[in-house]
Amino acid sequence: MPTGIVGEFLELKEGTDADVLAMQCGDFYEFFADDAELVADELDLTVSQKSSHGSSYPMAGVPLSELTPYLKALVERGYRVAVADQYETDDGGHAREVTRVVTPGTLLETSDADARYLATVVRGGEGGGSGIDDGSTGSDDGPYGVAFADVTTGRFLATTVDDRGDLRAELYRFDPAEVLPGPDLRNDDAFLASVREDLSGSVSVFDAEAFAPGRAAHAVREQFGAETADSVGLGSGSATRAAGAALAYVAETGAGVLASMTRLTTYGASDHVELDATTQRNLELTETMRGETDGSLYDAVDHTVTAAGGRLLREWLTRPKRDRDELDRRLDAVESLASAALARDRLRETLGDAYDLERLAARTTSGSAGARELSSVRDTLGLLPALAEAVEGTELADSPVVEVLGRPDRDRARNLHGELEEALAADPPKTKTEGGLFRKGYDAELDELIERHEAAAEWLDTLAEREKRDHGLSHVTVDRNKTDGYYIQVGKSVADGVPDHYREIKTLKNSKRFVTDELEEREREVLRLEEARGELEYELFEALRERVAEAVTLLQDVGRAFAELDALASLATHAAGNDWTRPTLSDSRALSIEAGRHPVVERTTDFVPNDLELDAERGFLIVTGPNMSGKSTYMRQAALIQLLAQTGSFVPARAAEVGLVDGIYTRVGALDELAQGRSTFMVEMQELSNILHSATEESLVILDEVGRGTATYDGISIAWAATEYLHNEVRARTLFATHYHELTTLADHLPRVENVHVAVDERDGDVTFLRTIRDGPTNRSYGVHVADIAGVPGPVVDRAGRVLDRLREEKAIEAKGGSRQGTGGDGTRQAVFDLSTGSFAGAEGGERGARNGDEEESPATGSEGTPVSEGSSDERAAALETPEDGLDAETRAVIEELTDVDVVETAPVELLSRVKEWQDRLE
Ligand code: ADP
Repeated sequence: MPTGIVGEFLELKEGTDADVLAMQCGDFYEFFADDAELVADELDLTVSQKSSHGSSYPMAGVPLSELTPYLKALVERGYRVAVADQYETDDGGHAREVTRVVTPGTLLETSDADARYLATVVRGGEGGGSGIDDGSTGSDDGPYGVAFADVTTGRFLATTVDDRGDLRAELYRFDPAEVLPGPDLRNDDAFLASVREDLSGSVSVFDAEAFAPGRAAHAVREQFGAETADSVGLGSGSATRAAGAALAYVAETGAGVLASMTRLTTYGASDHVELDATTQRNLELTETMRGETDGSLYDAVDHTVTAAGGRLLREWLTRPKRDRDELDRRLDAVESLASAALARDRLRETLGDAYDLERLAARTTSGSAGARELSSVRDTLGLLPALAEAVEGTELADSPVVEVLGRPDRDRARNLHGELEEALAADPPKTKTEGGLFRKGYDAELDELIERHEAAAEWLDTLAEREKRDHGLSHVTVDRNKTDGYYIQVGKSVADGVPDHYREIKTLKNSKRFVTDELEEREREVLRLEEARGELEYELFEALRERVAEAVTLLQDVGRAFAELDALASLATHAAGNDWTRPTLSDSRALSIEAGRHPVVERTTDFVPNDLELDAERGFLIVTGPNMSGKSTYMRQAALIQLLAQTGSFVPARAAEVGLVDGIYTRVGALDELAQGRSTFMVEMQELSNILHSATEESLVILDEVGRGTATYDGISIAWAATEYLHNEVRARTLFATHYHELTTLADHLPRVENVHVAVDERDGDVTFLRTIRDGPTNRSYGVHVADIAGVPGPVVDRAGRVLDRLREEKAIEAKGGSRQGTGGDGTRQAVFDLSTGSFAGAEGGERGARNGDEEESPATGSEGTPVSEGSSDERAAALETPEDGLDAETRAVIEELTDVDVVETAPVELLSRVKEWQDRLE
């Protein structure tokens, strides 16, 4: 082990579990050995060599004042960085110790407006992990305790979730920068994999002891008080363990912000609309499925003018509520703000001047706030009366806006503002040591020191003039530098004429420097006063900062109220500017939308509005229509209107009645999952499984194609069974878009199922998508038309059109289901899935003969209405051999492949080659 500075570095490094150590050496933070190489690589620092007792070590350093940006950069790349500061030892030497470990979840110095969460997760109850569950299947292996702490704002939340799916949803919503799994999860590969897959944050391992129930409960009680800990009902279960560990971690990393964590927010599933991780992603709430912010719902509706307002709006959108009173209150506020344009503009303008009080509160309690930060607190508190004024005498005077403004303790805010106003200079300097922090009159002792200091300085400033005058000298200046202190400098030409009491201290080329006893005396006085003034200012500042820190909850309250006003005004601004309307909330099972639009698509498209009618009698809509006609948009629009209404926002529609739901579940094509090595079909089935497990009678379910990722009959069977289950058992409000026209006959059998389709205008072979939703089913897919739009080469499109026509003529392709099954009028038979029986009909040796579906007892309404889903390939093969249909097996196989091909998602080149292959096979 090397000795000296490198030895000290390596020893400190060994004592910490951080990835990198920055050690103070005088005016620099230095990195040595491997750490030097690492930071040099990551941050483009130059590496030099440090020799130590015959060996040489790489070394890189940054000046003290510049550590912060480097820290930030390292931590944002996922490193945990220990910082060792230097202190003076009793014998006058220097030693160093690690004062904090900066980690992704405890980085205070962020300039990013987004919240920055640290998450801790523990498994509650008994039992280990299944090890194979990836979290998306909603298996019942919980509960889990989760805590989220944002050191930059002091936000602290804890909850218990039931299973992996809910855990995943919670983590996805908060998108923590760092996750600490409890001892029972840190080797759980499935958990770690899902964190890696869903989140951008890193995983850290922390002392298992901190998660122990007793110790964690103690930490929670210490921090939030025994009463709070008890009254929020946290108990000593897994949520407490998670919360306690989070507190311990924040304390240990030394960010010094524990004091800003003043409130423990707990919440349960019943407060919020359940949105699983998949749904949050599918609905593109805060980022698109491609991971971009542009084009997300948040991006479309965000007009906030402060960072805190933006954070809150984002939180609202990802945590829709079920509390009707709260939602009506928000809607009242949005309504009055939407109609009072002038007052709203004034309010937003004033809010725009607010600084981020939640963040300032955290910096104040951690001791890192300077005079600038305190003056920001002062100026922001000063906005409270200004805001009240902006509201008074306007249409807002009777609105809930007043209530929001009245929430913080206004008297306390006024007092603190007054105190800061009296204390701080109007525009104080950035650093605490520069002087000039305080106003005159704030502290008599300081004023006197300043006066004396200034008088002494004045004496020095005017000395040159006096010396010239009194001693008849020209070319005299008075100055100071580090080595000589204050001196009188006289030009060489006149240097011989200086008075006797001048003592020469230095000769320069053209001048000489002198001092006098009096000058030295005055110099000592100036330095003494300077020091005393600095010390007193610092002391006064610390005292003031501490008083502000004591008001941390007040700052958080005011910050929260401002954020809420900002978010509400943002919703109102969007509503007013985009002709949105107030939804009527109810406890009914209705989602009734008149002339609804998609909140994001309508911004860039000439949008065709659509109606939607879901209620207790009509609770399940099967949406058919060609590819690209607008099915997906229509369904997402419904989900987003539901979600916006439960955020307390107006909605893009002429009118809307929204029955509150307990959860929104979606399943749409998951292209990106393929890249993560899971088969699309597997993902699809996991998502479906999760919905069937989790959705309730109070939920809204959006299914955009089910069963597409497998062979047709498999797919239909699954879609069929899922529809029945959702209708009969779950009874959720459901919109189901499918390209299996066969499913549309379900409307005949299941009382609450209805068909709607996207209308298409077809004239002289020209197809126009009308984007209008009409009642009833459709039975054509217009795939060839879409292939044309997509730029599939003309010959392929033409040939496909002709093939399709021929197939149609032969009545072999369009499986109509139900009443059209079996022997057609022209004597042909179709070996297709019989929707009324849930079995394959028409094939010799098939399970059932062809019968008229109308006469049958429908399995859909029976208790065990499960369609054939296994062994179907054999049956299909048998069916395909059927001589009656006039087609050979190969032709049928080609037909089936042709019907299955997804024209939009298949590359043109591949389509070409497949068409060629079909042609060859048909010949
Ligand atoms: P599908 O799900 O039927 O394949 P999409 O919902 O993806 O179709 O819509 C296809 C295209 O049509 C999208 O680009 C979308 O922007 C546009 N679109 C959908 N609905 C409307 C509408 N009501 N008004 C205008 N354009 C629409």
